[in-house]
Amino acid sequence: MEPCPCGSARDYGECCQPLIEGRLEAETAEALMRARYSAYVKAAVDFIIASTHTSQRGNYTAEGIRKWSRNSEWRGLTVVRTEGGGSEDKDGVVEFIARYIAKGRSHSHHEIAQFRRENGTW
Ligand SMILES: [Zn+2]
Repeated sequence: MEPCPCGSARDYGECCQPLIEGRLEAETAEALMRARYSAYVKAAVDFIIASTHTSQRGNYTAEGIRKWSRNSEWRGLTVVRTEGGGSEDKDGVVEFIARYIAKGRSHSHHEIAQFRRENGTW
C-alpha cells in the first residue's frame, strides 16, 4: 500500500489516484482539492489543468505547473474547512494549507479555493 500524498491515511490507489487517472469523478469539492494536491506531488500536470475551471485556465501553463511541481518538495496538505461542495451542491469552498519546500525554503500556501461544478463535475 502506498499512503496517499493528500494525507487521508488511505491507500493512494483508493483515494486520489482513480480521480487523477480519470477513472472516477470527484464527488465532493474536498475530494477534488485533495486530488489536485496529490497531482502536484505526482506532477500529474494534465489532471491539474483539466480540474482548473475553464475561466481560470488561461492563468496556467503546463510548463509552469510542471516546473513548480517538480521543483517543490511537497510536505503535506491540511484541509482547514469546507463549505458546501457536497455531492448535492453546485459550488463549494475549501480552505486549505499546502506545505512545500522550494529552493531550500519552506513555504505554506494558504488558500480559500472556490469550486464550481461544470457540466456536472467539479
Ligand atoms: Zn488522497
